[in-house]
Amino acid sequence: MTRHTATVAGIVVDTRHWIGGARVASATTFTDESPIDGAVLGEIARGGQAEADAAVAAAQAAFPAWAATPPAERARLLRVIADGVDKRREDLALVETTDNGALLRSHRRGVMPRVAHNFRFFADRLDGLGHEDFDTRGHTNHVSWDPAGPCVLITPWNAPLMLATWKVAPALAAGNTVVLKPAEWSPLTASLLADIAAEAGLPAGVLNVVQGYGAEAGAALVAHPGVRRISFTGSVPTAKRIARAAAAGLVPTSFELGGKSPLLVFADADLDVAVDLAVEQYDNAGQVCLAATRLLVESSISEEFTRRFVARAAALRQGDPRDEATDIGPNIHARQVEKIDGFVRRAVAAGARTLLGGGPNTDLGGLYYRPTLLTDVAQDSEIVQEEVFGPVLTLQTFDTEDEAVRLANDTRFGLAATLATGDRDRAERVAARLVAGTVWVNCFFVRDLRAPFGGSRESGVGREGGTWSFDFYCDLKNTVTAPKGWIDR
Ligand code: NAD
Repeated sequence: MTRHTATVAGIVVDTRHWIGGARVASATTFTDESPIDGAVLGEIARGGQAEADAAVAAAQAAFPAWAATPPAERARLLRVIADGVDKRREDLALVETTDNGALLRSHRRGVMPRVAHNFRFFADRLDGLGHEDFDTRGHTNHVSWDPAGPCVLITPWNAPLMLATWKVAPALAAGNTVVLKPAEWSPLTASLLADIAAEAGLPAGVLNVVQGYGAEAGAALVAHPGVRRISFTGSVPTAKRIARAAAAGLVPTSFELGGKSPLLVFADADLDVAVDLAVEQYDNAGQVCLAATRLLVESSISEEFTRRFVARAAALRQGDPRDEATDIGPNIHARQVEKIDGFVRRAVAAGARTLLGGGPNTDLGGLYYRPTLLTDVAQDSEIVQEEVFGPVLTLQTFDTEDEAVRLANDTRFGLAATLATGDRDRAERVAARLVAGTVWVNCFFVRDLRAPFGGSRESGVGREGGTWSFDFYCDLKNTVTAPKGWIDR
């Protein structure tokens, strides 16, 4: 195997950085393995200060021309990138599944179409990005959305290309240049995105990709004085580190972080719907920031709910995520599995009862954690308060609506909440009282890119999506012009 190359099912990925329209190698590399079976996929360029400096310099150099490119031309290029994503959908799906272990069927039918949609949506949205005008005592106020400058975009491994393009597309649409640093655990599709953007004709330096570890490439990028925006999706401790670096240069940040979201099941709910919603929380082996990992069920139906839930969840097929019949694949790496198991063991030691799962699926090797349900958990316990990021749910009961809301809101997070109820008035009442960036009623994971997305409390800072993305990636300017003073020529 040559250095700076990875191969997945015959698809060869150039794993050098993409800086200023050229592939750039590093002195050192790191090894990328598949969580499916531990197979070595290749060697990835390991960026640091020098690569961060070069990428930001390339983004700075490309910025004036890209910012001055007419919006219609920027939109056209984004649509060509979307077409390129569609054309390579199967490759992208296979590479990403092999790299991060999420289901191939989801990548094929949900994730990669959404990646293309991210580009088309923000291209379309540019047409509607108004330049607001209003009058003050005869003076004209003209509000414009000016691109901010080079943006650093840092993303996690659980939904690599979807989360990367959710940032790349609006940042580019708005006229910014970007440096993307994908997670070291799933670096490959970002490299393919660079190829697609180059083939689409995106000018050199507009999109740059720096590979490497967070503490090296990531830390160098977020501390760079040439950066005008930082958008980060990942964990709370990393966000706090980035916030400190960003504060030094007063760089605006957008943070999409972890969660410990509740699913509230009221006795008046359609129980089939409620059970479906609960089982869905094992998607991506529980490695979903939005996952409703705390099942809060009204006492009068908890026995029936639990019986049906356990029967459904026990029938989920765990295995190779490339198999279309698989429901749950592996977790990302051995340390993650140890972390998940540590949470479960400590919960059980503290008195939790295991209703389902409770350890790795040893038939499949170490990285496949069994879908797990724990009950008899205290509200202030670690398992109820901390994000596990694995297929582990807790079950608690409540007797009144007030109690349900109190339990739901009693964590330091506020990313999402899901309700199952047949009572419309209750749905409105409870939704209004929940601390969450998104509330789903009798549904889950329905995402419209026009909606604001983000979290409250430690689940995030700011909102992206729709106009909110442009508000973040732009400097808003108001130009006030007096009614008189023009010299006729
Ligand atoms: P992480 O914070 O460990 O890493 C995320 C990214 O940050 C990686 O690219 C990493 O290399 C980089 N990084 C690490 N240290 C850095 C530093 N000092 N400076 C700059 N960059 C650095 O998170 P993870 O474990 O990859 O992802 C899982 C977390 O992401 C979970 O908490 C999950 O809930 C959260 N998440 C949130 C959303 C959302 O939209 N709210 C979506 C997906 C995942």
